[in-house]
Amino acid sequence: MTRALLRAEAVTREFTSRAGTVRALGATDLAVRPGELVVLRGPSGSGKSTLLSLLAGLDRPTSGRIHLDDERIDDAPESRLVEYRRDHLGIVFQSFGLLPVLTATENVEVPLRIAGVPPAERTDRVAEALDLVGLAQHGGQLPEELSGGQQQRVGIARALVSRPRILLADEPTAQLDSANAAAIMDLLASLVASQGVAAVVSTHDDSMSDRATHVITLG
Ligand code: ADP
Ligand code: MG
Repeated sequence: MTRALLRAEAVTREFTSRAGTVRALGATDLAVRPGELVVLRGPSGSGKSTLLSLLAGLDRPTSGRIHLDDERIDDAPESRLVEYRRDHLGIVFQSFGLLPVLTATENVEVPLRIAGVPPAERTDRVAEALDLVGLAQHGGQLPEELSGGQQQRVGIARALVSRPRILLADEPTAQLDSANAAAIMDLLASLVASQGVAAVVSTHDDSMSDRATHVITLG
């Protein structure tokens, strides 16, 4: 079996304030390989967002370790975490995170502009990413002219356009009706398999688990 690309071992996260200590995430193990979809499930407050923040290098565990290949990222310097996110991660947001004044094409293009990809290559890669999510005909539309499900497809195209090795998504279907939610999870599962991406996706909807390579239940 291929080695894990991203691995968490016994990670915990506690938050301490004057009111006391809250354990946001109990000891959790996770491993994800290229082409695998790990579903994190659990009720609200079970630590899904906390774990995804740790995996994204946006927060650090109280104990435990996180590895990218052979490299520890839980104690890596902030400058390395910035590179990690830029070079390896695609992130899909619950609320889509699209810029309302930009068309679908322009939204998907943003990460390539930031990365300094030349215009001709940007055009090809944006078209390819929109095609992958079934929106080849909708690139000129603004977010408000798209349905919720279509907006999340744009969010997924934007996350994949930089060809990340890892895709992280925190409740990407929470704002969609059940038919659109199922369609988005099916799309994520097929893209992860076809693009060889390692994906970790959280949901509080148990019906999503059958798309997963592995399911991790929190809480
Ligand atoms: P989920 O995403 O599964 O709904 P979260 O990861 O957001 O759960 O939160 C898990 C628990 O940790 C909750 O009880 C939440 O209130 C607590 N928590 C999360 N972030 C913080 C924080 N920055 N400070 C204090 N408590 C937090
Ligand atoms: Mg959450």
